[in-house]
This record gives sequence, C-alpha cells and structure tokens, in this order.
Amino acid sequence: MSENSGSDTVFGKIIRREIPADIVYEDNLCLAFRDVNPQAPVHVLVIPKEPIAKLSDTESKNHALLGHLLLTVKRVAEQLGLANGYRVVINTGEEGGQTVYHLHLHILGGRPMQWPPG
Ligand code: AMP
Repeated sequence: MSENSGSDTVFGKIIRREIPADIVYEDNLCLAFRDVNPQAPVHVLVIPKEPIAKLSDTESKNHALLGHLLLTVKRVAEQLGLANGYRVVINTGEEGGQTVYHLHLHILGGRPMQWPPG
C-alpha cells in the first residue's frame, strides 16, 4: 500500500499502545502526545483515533470531529501553559510537507514563531 493510502501508520501504533508515546491528553475521539522531534519548546500532535489519512480526505460528515480536534488543541494548549500564544499547523499532502499519513494537528509553542514558514 502506498504511504498516503490511509493504511496503518506509526500513529495507529501509538493509538493501540504498540509503541510508546508521551501522551498528554486522550478522550474517546482523539489523542495528543509530544512530537518525538520537537521544533519548539512545546510541540504536541493532536490526532483523531479514526485513521483519516489527511485533511484533504475529510468530508462534511467529519465536521464534528474536526471541530472537536480544534477544541482539543485549545484545551491542550491551556493545559500546557501556552498562555502567550501558539501555532497550529496541519501539513497536508506531499507539497504540504506531510510525512505521516494519519491526520494530525501540530501545536507549537513556547517561543515566538516566524512568518512565513518554510
Ligand atoms: P508531518 O510532517 O506533518 O506529517 O508530521 C509528522 C510528525 O510526526 C513529525 O513532526 C515527526 O517528528 C512526528 N513523529 C513521527 N513519529 C513519531 C513518534 N513515534 N512519536 C511522536 N512523534 C512522531
């Protein structure tokens, strides 16, 4: 199966506890854990438990889940003390720089962010 076909990924293994992760939040729909290669003092990934490969694969039936993921970003950012702000990134597809084909929202914080991103 190709990498972006919606097949199992390393994040699926984290959801099933087959490999370790530093989990900071979990509920019935999603999971948040620290990125293994942090690009900021705080770098957390929020993922749905449902294995959606990428944002461009979502449909209107996913609207509640997508809202839940954003509200989870806000909740986790508060939990981690990002009171001065943070950045949320969804890399999508090859040109978007996506490397793991399980939808994920990056929360980056703890330092000032630059614009534009690379
Ligand atoms: P993206 O390039 O947007 O697809 O982001 C994938 C992210 O997943 C990268 O920032 C990686 O550092 C991160 N990552 C890959 N494997 C793991 C892992 N086992 N645990 C935590 N983060 C991971």
